[in-house]
Amino acid sequence: MFLSGKRALVTGSTSGIGLAIARALAGEGAGVVLNGFGPPDEIERLCAELGAVHVAADLTTAEGVEALMAEAGPIDVLVNNAGIQHVAPVEDFPPDKWEAIIALNLSAAFHTARLAVPHMKAQGWGRIIATASAHSLAASPFKSAYVAAKHGIAGLTKVLALELAEHGVTANCISPGYVWTPLVESQIPDTMAARGMTREQVINDVLLAKQPTKAFVQPEEVAALAVFLCRDEARNINGANYTIDGGWTAE
Ligand code: NAD
Repeated sequence: MFLSGKRALVTGSTSGIGLAIARALAGEGAGVVLNGFGPPDEIERLCAELGAVHVAADLTTAEGVEALMAEAGPIDVLVNNAGIQHVAPVEDFPPDKWEAIIALNLSAAFHTARLAVPHMKAQGWGRIIATASAHSLAASPFKSAYVAAKHGIAGLTKVLALELAEHGVTANCISPGYVWTPLVESQIPDTMAARGMTREQVINDVLLAKQPTKAFVQPEEVAALAVFLCRDEARNINGANYTIDGGWTAE
């Protein structure tokens, strides 16, 4: 229980990868702040299971992030995980979707970091982890906003790493390939339309085609690395971008 007494905020943790990370951090004793949307009774059940509190702030605005951070209190482990996706050719890409993806997948991580860092610096310890993506390193067609935001968060992470290196605070990215979560499932219909494919073709010829292992990554695999990055043994891992993509970005 090496995180006992530490407070961890995981954005977008009512589902998918964020929930797995929140579970794993709670399993090591961290007091967890959940964030994200979902059915109230399900969120209540998660809070009871993890001994967590939940703040439902919408992180697409600076004000939403400020409300979250005010309610969450001082944070020792910050996991910037909340993210959305939209799939469309660039000429059809709705500008409001572009704005929302940049706001949530990139700008929210800047706002949480700027508000969390003073406490981390003052105590001389902190961990900032971003759930980036293989798309922080490589592109796919029809994902202009997502790929731009994920490349951006990889850059932001490097800046945080350099600025905070002498303060006992590390900043790193974890970059999964395809993980079977609602985010991936919900992009299948638009990908079918953009590429003129069936559901099975999208799964096998687009999603799994990227991953040499031909298998989806499990959320728990991402969570295990996040826990490791919080350990003292990881104190010199700083500014890194770790892929968990079955070899996708090795090509
Ligand atoms: P998910 O859809 O299962 O979960 C997304 C979470 O974000 C949910 O808790 C949701 O309520 C929350 N959320 C959505 N809009 C929000 C908003 N405006 N404000 C606050 N919270 C909001 O998705 P996931 O697949 O678990 O994705 C989590 C992260 O992992 C994202 O950043 C995503 O880009 C990244 N990622 C996912 C995959 C994948 O294949 N699933 C691969 C690489 C990276």
